[in-house]
Amino acid sequence: MKFNTKTIHGKQQPDKAYGAVMPPIYQTSTYAQSTPGGHKGYEYSRTHNPTRTALENALASIENGNYGMAFASGLAAIDAIMKLLKPGDEVISTSDLYGGTYRLFTKIFEGYGIKFQFVGMQNAANIESYVNTNTKLIWVETPTNPMMNIIDIEAASIVAKKYNILLAVDNTFATPYLQRPLDLGADIVMHSATKYIGGHSDLVMGALIVKDKEVADKLYFIQNASGAICGPMDSFLALRGIKTLHVRMQRHCENGKAIAEYLANHPKISTVYWPGFSNHPNHDIAKKQMDDFGGMISFVTKGNNYTEAIRIVENLKIFTLAESLGGVESLAGHPASMTHASIPKEEREKTGVVDSLIRLSVGIEDINDLIDDLAQALGK
Ligand code: PLP
Repeated sequence: MKFNTKTIHGKQQPDKAYGAVMPPIYQTSTYAQSTPGGHKGYEYSRTHNPTRTALENALASIENGNYGMAFASGLAAIDAIMKLLKPGDEVISTSDLYGGTYRLFTKIFEGYGIKFQFVGMQNAANIESYVNTNTKLIWVETPTNPMMNIIDIEAASIVAKKYNILLAVDNTFATPYLQRPLDLGADIVMHSATKYIGGHSDLVMGALIVKDKEVADKLYFIQNASGAICGPMDSFLALRGIKTLHVRMQRHCENGKAIAEYLANHPKISTVYWPGFSNHPNHDIAKKQMDDFGGMISFVTKGNNYTEAIRIVENLKIFTLAESLGGVESLAGHPASMTHASIPKEEREKTGVVDSLIRLSVGIEDINDLIDDLAQALGK
């Protein structure tokens, strides 16, 4: 089955009761048993829920995995991965990553005795020199948030396999429409399903997808034991979102390309970060592992002026100034004061998150309206 069919039909079947094409929202916490343990596959909704199962199957299908798990948020999904580790274990992580992931690693899991090495992975050869006998996990986010760096998943997986280390990839920005990390050797794919998977800015959710049964069993255990699951209504919404992922992503990519090119030619802008440019430092890797370049773009205005960046985002009319990304509507954000405010300024600036950086999540509106909006906000 091809990707565009899998988004609609992958591992899905009509509901057993009445043949409903979409699974009902099974808004229930528990399930009747005929005798203790005598049930129809479901006993308590923290462990399983039929609406969530339909979503988890769809997630596994589109990422070419065997097992999917849905969580209360992207961070809850990352939290579950980290619980595979024990005190003394080490993680080699992308240095330029979502601020909330950095906060979870440094403010929560470092406190439980897990050590993190934050490494610039744009050159994958850097990873191996940080491996030691305690290294248990390599954490890759690609494209990175917000600098749009690209990390070679296959190269990272060669190191991971050589030393028997798990490789987890945050695939939030790319989605399986653009890149499928499990096919490139990753062990775990993670999503903030809040973003492109849901696609309509109407839910908060996380997802994990794996191929290997042993890893899946450990994660299912953590999902049930820690309990950060998503509810049936959100499961239904995310499943509905997946059904249009391919058409939405196609338009996100088209609009993203047009806007990246517009910004690159704008006299007030010094740098545009978008992996589709042939002069992007990792363009060749992006071309190799992604099918297109997505709708996420960051840029810096000339003079690197904080006040000017704030003025621009405040003046946008169709782009909404808001946290988050990946919905049908275009959003603009100022990472230094919003999504990445939890990273200390010196750390942030080392990775390029300067005060004038603006991040766009390009939506699927008419491209002319989006360009006119940027033109008027930049021009003022
Ligand atoms: N990973 C990336 C790349 C993100 O952008 C985000 C949120 O913005 C997360 C993880 C965390 O996801 P959530 O907000 O659903 O917890």
